[in-house]
Amino acid sequence: MAQKTQDKIEELPEIYSDFEKSVYEYKKSATCKIGCAYCCIYVGNVDITTMEGIVIQNRLETFEKKLKANIRKKLDKNKAERERGVLARCAFLKEEDNTCLIYDIRPFSCRRIYSIKQCNQSQPVVHRQAIELADYTISKLQQLDDTGYSGHMSFILYLLDKSGFRKAYLGGKFNPGKIMNFGKSHGIIINRSVKPKSLSFNNNLGLSHLL
Ligand code: SF4
Repeated sequence: MAQKTQDKIEELPEIYSDFEKSVYEYKKSATCKIGCAYCCIYVGNVDITTMEGIVIQNRLETFEKKLKANIRKKLDKNKAERERGVLARCAFLKEEDNTCLIYDIRPFSCRRIYSIKQCNQSQPVVHRQAIELADYTISKLQQLDDTGYSGHMSFILYLLDKSGFRKAYLGGKFNPGKIMNFGKSHGIIINRSVKPKSLSFNNNLGLSHLL
């Protein structure tokens, strides 16, 4: 069963890549640049699935001791901030240059966001079709992770740090009752309880249908 979860994790890059292909024409007009980390700081909700959490946790384990301890401290801070409803600067955002420590394996929450206007004190401006394509992709990620959950990165990583939870999850066991109290108070979504989404438009429309 553990192998089955691992097999499913290997499908994540293809889902990300399908999304990138589907939004390619929209993203062409993005103003995003390396080091502009507005959405890693001020947008606040980096939600992930448990499956994405395993990928991030595995990467975290490869970091050297001091960096790992530093990230763990920041994740605890993120958790406390989100519990108070405060926007949290992502724990994986480097202080020196505002780049991402886990860019190649970043979760879908980060991949879906771009902006066609500079974000300076405003939310990113995204094409509505890209928003729908992103929602559709989230639905696919949740279906793939059907024994898992979705929620803020610091909350999902907190759950996965509990060896009992991680072991049960990787073993394919599904028991939401075990995390019911934490799940309710932290807005955790049970992936299999989310109705699958479909697209309301044909995505071969080109740039004339922006916004
Ligand atoms: S994981 Fe990386 S891209 Fe995503 S919010 Fe954090 S620093 Fe930004």
